[in-house]
Amino acid sequence: MQSIDTLLCGDTILTMNDTMDVLQNGAVAVHGGDILAVGSYPELIAHYAPKTVVDGKGKVLLPGFVNAHCHAAMAYFRGLADDMHLKEWLEQHIWPAENRLLNPEFVADSAELACLEMLKGGITTVNDMYFFGGATARSAKNMGMRAVVGAGIVDFPTVAGNSVDDYLAKAEEFIRQWSDDPLVSGCIAPHSAYACGSDTLRRVKEMADRLGCLIHLHVSETAWEVSEIQTRFGKRPVEYLESIGMLAPNVVAVHCVWLDDAEIEIFARRGVGVAHCIESNLKLASGVAPVAKMLKAGVKVAFGTDGAASNNDLNMLGEISTAAKVHKALAADPTVLDAKTALRMATRVGAEVLGLCDRVGSLEPGKRADIISFDMRKPHLSPLYDPYSHIVYAALPSDIDLVMVDGNVLVQGGRAVACDETSVLARAEEWKAKISPTGGRI
Ligand SMILES: [Zn+2]
Repeated sequence: MQSIDTLLCGDTILTMNDTMDVLQNGAVAVHGGDILAVGSYPELIAHYAPKTVVDGKGKVLLPGFVNAHCHAAMAYFRGLADDMHLKEWLEQHIWPAENRLLNPEFVADSAELACLEMLKGGITTVNDMYFFGGATARSAKNMGMRAVVGAGIVDFPTVAGNSVDDYLAKAEEFIRQWSDDPLVSGCIAPHSAYACGSDTLRRVKEMADRLGCLIHLHVSETAWEVSEIQTRFGKRPVEYLESIGMLAPNVVAVHCVWLDDAEIEIFARRGVGVAHCIESNLKLASGVAPVAKMLKAGVKVAFGTDGAASNNDLNMLGEISTAAKVHKALAADPTVLDAKTALRMATRVGAEVLGLCDRVGSLEPGKRADIISFDMRKPHLSPLYDPYSHIVYAALPSDIDLVMVDGNVLVQGGRAVACDETSVLARAEEWKAKISPTGGRI
């Protein structure tokens, strides 16, 4: 008998492995943060002597969700301004608030709130983009969450930097600083092709290739962006990025709402990963990305929540459910984005897009133990015929019972057990007084 830390049990285990194996009366053996085995409960309990056995009655286990695009530290701007055009929202509300308030302390506190919300909703990995990435990285680490944190780059001065040289130097230092961390790594995040010129993007590409990191950027979010890039460069955004040599498998392209067929073909050929942020795109009326076409062309499409100021939550279940329905309606075809495909995009494909599929994204021996479980003993989840269907179309974040990241239990019985939730919420209230001195909009 081999002694191990934990045996997590489940009535059903959705492995999300290559063959999408589903196990009944299953278990996952975890030791030192590694998944040692995934199999039937009787088989594993005969082989391992766990210090802790987590009961699996009524539970469905699966790999944690991967949020392929977020601005975690914007959580404090949730509900500050809604129901307006992207340009007005940014220029009259978000950017002035950022200029007035942003500093590493704000970013750290707001990112902790975001991590707490994500973890309680089953997101175990986040790909972030914002300023003061060091503060976000420390918050993710404190909260025990896996994160790729993008160092933001723009062509103009902000509170976080005064020139492209300054942003790039800070980005390189940040990425090197986190290069050996088991949970958190850095990447480079030029905001977009309209906020960063060709020269900046070429320097970003050179640095990403040299440091072996991801490039995380917004692409074709709005129709305005497409016409702006066409006016400046005579090409559509993806054609333009291709022409300056940016596109490769280490690129995470966010939104991709306004892609034509030729651009989809370029993404497929270059192996570019896409972060689909449907709820943010719907709320800002940006449009709906051609996901069915991208999937058909072989483009890897993951889900992103975007920041809480434009969504307005960091709820992966919401993204999955909305996407699975909207794309059916748009295609007038209910077979589009079936539940199994949607759940694959939220787990395994997300890990592939972030270059983390050797470590997370499925429940398999040799991967790190990023595992979530749903308690299916609820009125809206009974009776249970097909766990893929219930998780995609009926489950809520409050149905998540356990969240483990890197072998550490962070949520148990639906409650955060590795951080002081009361203090995270109290700090949000303290910041509210500075963000909105009048106390609210109403
Ligand atoms: Zn974004």
